[in-house]
This record gives sequence, C-alpha cells and structure tokens, in this order.
Amino acid sequence: MKYILVTGGVLSGIGKGIIASSTAMIMKAMGLRVTSIKIDPYLNIDAGTMSPFEHGEVFVLNDGGEADLDLGNYERFLDASLNRDNNITTGKIYNLVIEKERKGLFLGRTVQVVPHITEEIQSWVERVAHVPVDGTEGTPDVCIIELGGTVGDIESMPFIEAMRQFQFRVGAENFCLMHVSLVPVIGVVGEQKTKPTQQTVRELRSLGLSPDLIMCRSSQPLTQDTQKKISLFCHVAPENVIGVHDVSNLYRVPLLLYQQNTTNIIINRLKLTPKVDLHQQETGSAMHKDQSAHLLVNQSIPYWLDSWKAIADTMDRINNEGGPVRIAMVGKYTGLTDSYLSVIKSLEHASMKLNRKTVIDWIEASDLEPAKSGLTDFSSEKHDRAWELIKNCNGVLVPGGFGDRGIEGMILAANYARINNKPYLGICLGMQVAVIEFARNVVGWTGANSEEFGKGTKNVVVFMPEVSKTHMGGTMRLGSRDTIFNDVDCKIAKLYGVQKVGDAVEERHRHRYEVNPEVIDEIDKKGLHFVGKDTTNVRMEIVELKEHDYYVGVQFHPEFKSRPLRPSPPFVGLVQACIDQLAKKSSTPTKQ
Ligand code: GLN
Repeated sequence: MKYILVTGGVLSGIGKGIIASSTAMIMKAMGLRVTSIKIDPYLNIDAGTMSPFEHGEVFVLNDGGEADLDLGNYERFLDASLNRDNNITTGKIYNLVIEKERKGLFLGRTVQVVPHITEEIQSWVERVAHVPVDGTEGTPDVCIIELGGTVGDIESMPFIEAMRQFQFRVGAENFCLMHVSLVPVIGVVGEQKTKPTQQTVRELRSLGLSPDLIMCRSSQPLTQDTQKKISLFCHVAPENVIGVHDVSNLYRVPLLLYQQNTTNIIINRLKLTPKVDLHQQETGSAMHKDQSAHLLVNQSIPYWLDSWKAIADTMDRINNEGGPVRIAMVGKYTGLTDSYLSVIKSLEHASMKLNRKTVIDWIEASDLEPAKSGLTDFSSEKHDRAWELIKNCNGVLVPGGFGDRGIEGMILAANYARINNKPYLGICLGMQVAVIEFARNVVGWTGANSEEFGKGTKNVVVFMPEVSKTHMGGTMRLGSRDTIFNDVDCKIAKLYGVQKVGDAVEERHRHRYEVNPEVIDEIDKKGLHFVGKDTTNVRMEIVELKEHDYYVGVQFHPEFKSRPLRPSPPFVGLVQACIDQLAKKSSTPTKQ
C-alpha cells in the first residue's frame, strides 16, 4: 500500500481537497486502484450535527455516513463509493480510545495522546486504506490521506504526530507528502510572494514532516524564479514545486498537475507500477518551456487522460446560445453556496450532458413570503427581487433542508411553478413542500403542513422513523435505499431508464419525515402521482405531476450520486425541460 498525505498551510479553503482528489484521479487514470481518507480534526463524531452555514454541505455516503463535503469531491473525481470510515474525526478517534479504556484494554496504563491516540489514528488509516471503494474485490494500490485544516492548528497536532510516526511504520518508499500552500500575488506588477510558503514548510518540518512536493496555489502561473526560491528555502527540488494557478474549471486541475510532471515524480518516489503505457510521455518528451508559466511543462495530454480532458474541454465550451438556462434555487442557506455543493455539481453535470449553460439564481426562501403583522425584518425590496427572479427563471429547484424558516416561501415557489407550468424539482424537503402545496391548494386541506413544523391542522408529512419512534437519536433515515417504481408511464421513470413496474433505483437518503401514507390516495386521485415507493410500499419516494412539463419531487438526494459523466436523471430532466420550453418559446412567432 502506498500512501500520499496531503497537508495544507497558510490558509484553509485554497483548494487542498481539489488538489488531493485530482491526484487521486490521475493515479486512477494510470490504472491504479485508489482510495482516500479525509481527516477532519474537529471533535464532532461526524458532520451530521454541523450547520451547513458553518461547515457547508453534509455529504451522505451509501452506508449512511454523514461526512465532510470533500468526500463528495473524491467520489466525483474517483467515481467511487466511500464508506463512513473513510472520514476520520478527532471525535471518532477519542471515542474509540475512551471506549477501550473503559473496557480496561489498556491494562492499567496511563492513556495518552502519544502513543495511544496516535496509534489509533495509524491503525485506522491502515485498516481503511485496505478496503476497496471501486466496487471490485481486492486491496487498493494507493491511499490518498487528506488532513483538513492547516498545519500548526492545535487540533491537527495529534494527526501530524501520527503521520510523522506513520512514515516510519510503512517505510519511506511507501509514503509521500504533498503540502499545499498559497503564493499570493501582490502589487501592480504582480509580484509572487514566497514567504508564507517558506513559513508553513518550516513549521511542517519542525514537526518532523518534510514535503516531497509543494503545491503552490496562486492566481497566476508560478514563475521559474518563484519556483527556485521556494525550492531553495523549503528543501525540495525545483521540479517538485508545482504551480496550481486559477484555471477555467476544476476539471483542469488534474491536467495541470500532469503537465508539470507530478505524475512521474509520484511514480518514482513511491516506485509505483502504472498499468498504462507511459511510453508516450517519455518518447514524446514534450518537456519544454511554457511561455506564460516559465515552468517546465508537458503540453501533450496522454491517451489515459483523454476522457478527463474531454470533460474539461466540454465545461469550457458549453453552449450559451440564446442565453443560459436560469435555475432559481429556493433555499435557506443561499448565502453560502458550499451548503449545496453537490446540487450545484449535479446541475453542472446535467448541463455538460445537454450542452447548455445553466446559471443559478439564489433565492432566500423567506424573501418570497409576504409581509406579516409583527414581522419586523420584512424588506419589500428583497421580496420584489426574489419574485422577479422566480418569474424570470426557467426552472425552480427546492433543495433539502431542516427547520421551518422559509417553508412558506418554498411552498409559494412550488405553487408558482405548478400553476405556471415552470419545470420544478423538489429534493427531500422540496418534495415535501410540493406535497403540502398540492394538499392545500388542490385537495383543499388549507391547514396542510408537515409535523416537523408543528403548525398544521392536517399533517400530510409525518415523522416516520425506520426505528422506534420513542427511541432518542438515530431516527434519521440515512444512506442508500431502493425506490421501486409502481408506475412507469411518467417522465422520471424514463429519465432513470426504468421500463418495468417493480424495477428499482438506488439513491441516498437523509430525512426524518415522510409523506403521510394515510393521505396519498386522495392526493394521487387529484393528479399528484406517487410513482416510486420504498420496498415496504409505505414510504413515498417520488411524486410527479403528469399534466405539467416537469414537476417532480424526490424524497431522496439524487445529488450525491451524480458524476461528471453520469449526471443524475432528475437533474437532467429539469434542465432538459427548461431547454425544451426555451426552444418552444423562441420558435413561437410573437403576435404583432
Ligand atoms: N427536514 C425534512 C426531513 O427531515 C427534510 C430533510 C431534507 O431535506 N434532507 O424529513
């Protein structure tokens, strides 16, 4: 097993996750079997309890693990399915060690950070690295370990120390360290500053870890002078200082790494045997100076990175003729796009497949609500702007969410989309609000609501845990479950390619509430059809309004399984319906 540890310095949020997943992706493209581990040094056991405001999206795994959004990047870049153990937190490690202590497994010894916590971290990494994540048997060849936060944070110290020990445990030829740093560009002439990188590498080395590669994030291509200076002060060969400048889209990052020979450096350092023909790379020896970057770069992209290059090129060339498709995203964390990262990515994947640019208009759901007596923070300006966006968009998307803030606004958005034949996709909470809206305005149950909000006179969405109702905690329905189609004469079945009643699709879930089974007959009779249910036939998984160009609600979160080359069907349906409506509009002659 070969390990590549990715650490970060200077600042967080500069793209360490993308660099780590890009590295993983290149390794996979070389025919190696890759897995990855994300370490989050916080004390929470997992991201499940963390606010999307503070921490971004909670990414849900097949096994129901609630993880950091970086695991989503790995799954999308690697096209793999990770497990909850692929995300390590301080909370998980301490929990384990304390449990062992209570069981008396330390035989009376004093339990300490070194060696007990550090030992537990290393065994966890070794154990999980051997579990395959690509759906086939056997052990992976390479494990990418990304350490969250920046070196020097108090929280990450035990992990740094564990990794310092780990390099000896697994042997130097099996352990390679990539340190991601920032090279700020300042002044009118655009001077590239190396001091922050020098300092972070000094700190890392003082802790006993010396980088093999320094990945320099910067707004501009690194100059050769900068590269030399970093090499000189940071004890790495100049060619091991890699520039990762801003690029037109994220899919270019693996190509950028390849072009600076990162692949060969890692292969040689770890004595890896790639399963692709690297000959092209050697004989082509297209190593020459890139005029803009002044760095040695390999301009040609080898055949084994072709499909990835195609994705990057497609992204840059997406058709924008006739203007983009505008999707109104009506949520409650709209100030922070990281909160909906996978939804944004899924729209991007659909957009690539359909070759039509999409843009998202972010709408704070509560802004759609009318002024209420007693509500002091109502702003008519925000209200008007939100409605203008809804009216001018091509499609509406209501993503998942918790709590009742903005619910009435989401219901108004669902209502607008339904009666104006505007394509609508409701995810989880977005499906629940579509059902509430329909129950109120079509079935006539004016007091319809969800039990979650405790405000209705008729709960059409109710608490229906898979485990006991009275058992505290663990009541969330999490992870992969089957949805069985009981109707295939609908748009969503076609999108999933389901042809037979009884056929199933598997998607991931994260919710507590469900459509009330007692009300579905009446709702169905009025036209909102429950076309997909769970295996027990009591949980509603998909609703569709057939008398509409596209009005679909899904109780699951399709965004977690969307991949660049395999876009999620409900998203493709939404974007396609918008494109079709736009085409119809432009071909309909306007009356004089
Ligand atoms: N709050 C709703 C529930 O628990 C929806 C959850 C979600 O959208 N993820 O059922």
